[in-house]
Amino acid sequence: MYRKNAWKALAEGERAQLEAFAEKYKAYLDAGKTERECVAESVRLAQEAGFTDLMAAIREGRQLHAGDRVYCNWMNKCFLAWVIGEKDIECGMNILGAHIDSPRIDVKQNPLYESEGFAYLDTHYYGGIKKYQWVASPLALHGVVCRKDGTKVTIAIGEDENDPVFYITDLLIHLAADQMGKPASKVIEGDALDIIIGSEPMAEEEKNPVKARVLAILKEKYGIEEEDFVSAELEAVPAGKCRDVGFDRALIAGYGHDDRVCAYPSMAAVLDVEGTPDYTVCAVLTDKEEIGSVGATGMNALYFENIMAELVANLKGNDSPLSLRRCLAHSRMLSSDVSAGYDPNFAGVFEKNNASIVGNGVTFNKFTGSRGKSGSNDCNAEFVAQVRRICDEAEVAWQTAELGKVDVGGGGTIAYVCAKYGMNVIDCGVPVLSMHAPWEAISKVDLWQEYKCYCAFIKNAKEFDY
Ligand code: MN
Ligand code: MN
Repeated sequence: MYRKNAWKALAEGERAQLEAFAEKYKAYLDAGKTERECVAESVRLAQEAGFTDLMAAIREGRQLHAGDRVYCNWMNKCFLAWVIGEKDIECGMNILGAHIDSPRIDVKQNPLYESEGFAYLDTHYYGGIKKYQWVASPLALHGVVCRKDGTKVTIAIGEDENDPVFYITDLLIHLAADQMGKPASKVIEGDALDIIIGSEPMAEEEKNPVKARVLAILKEKYGIEEEDFVSAELEAVPAGKCRDVGFDRALIAGYGHDDRVCAYPSMAAVLDVEGTPDYTVCAVLTDKEEIGSVGATGMNALYFENIMAELVANLKGNDSPLSLRRCLAHSRMLSSDVSAGYDPNFAGVFEKNNASIVGNGVTFNKFTGSRGKSGSNDCNAEFVAQVRRICDEAEVAWQTAELGKVDVGGGGTIAYVCAKYGMNVIDCGVPVLSMHAPWEAISKVDLWQEYKCYCAFIKNAKEFDY
């Protein structure tokens, strides 16, 4: 019915725009392999687009007006941007939300040990991963080391082709008879995901000479001591850049499409707004979705509400809590997260009429969740109708889906968190193949339809009369 192949539906001249946008997304993906790097890159792009720091305006008591473009960096892990609209902020905002944390392998706080001539970093994985996918493959280390004196070292090793990479071993097939008989969840266990970071001993050292050599290198190159790992956040991620897939280059294989494939277009749609929109538009890129939206940088924290309280007080010239409540309750939001792309190799877990088909455009999920929609947002049909109309008027290729067959599995997003304010929120995103694998794949045409959808939504979504 409404579903169509988005490649065939491209208007004349649209392909060049699609290709150009895909290249910008690929650059963002390569620059942002962690939530911190995504925030740094987003701030850079926002400043380049003429956005200024919201918190500086608040500190300086500078009144904001319609047409003003501001951003906020929250704890170096969340990024928000707004273009102030003509209408009263109490009429609500048109919001695009997504997350910038991705599944990975985190380094423990007391990680460094030596065993039988190897120096290792002990790890604890982050988010839902198939552990066997992360072994025998080059890894890069990204993150920060915070010294006791308050200084901070930023680290990214393994991306430049002249950099070393890091490595987790797997068992050779010749001796793997027992291993191959195990369930996939046990083939590689969490405790075995320790990363090799060195194997040459320090000549004059008797005890733990390999570890001693690694520590000497860390001291010399980065000025860090073993104790500094305690206050570090180091994330092991697949090393290397994203790549086009197929002779036709229609797909992109990359690390962390979940959920940067939604985060980048959400941010870009707001940065690309020209002039003054009717309603204030907002992009929020959040952290910690993959572990339940917890912590001070997860969507369940009050940072979004607090920052909005500041913005509303600035715009209204008073700090009435009612203005904030009205603003949030009257808002409209696309909560974007990736969908499970229909995979013909694993057709059995999908119900094709309600699956997200790669190449069929941006996907709406009225609900997510599992076991009877548990944990989902299940947005109102009235809002689905508005979103349909906006997409059709903007000639966006779109589809609806849920995550797999009923009772096969499921998953959650940030949609329910924002919906608690009473705003209209719908889950939205693009189909991804091999979700949560080190290298996931998406289609360039879905990325392009998603961006078109976001631009149309922030321009045309309207508040409801209740
Ligand atoms: Mn996600
Ligand atoms: Mn995920």
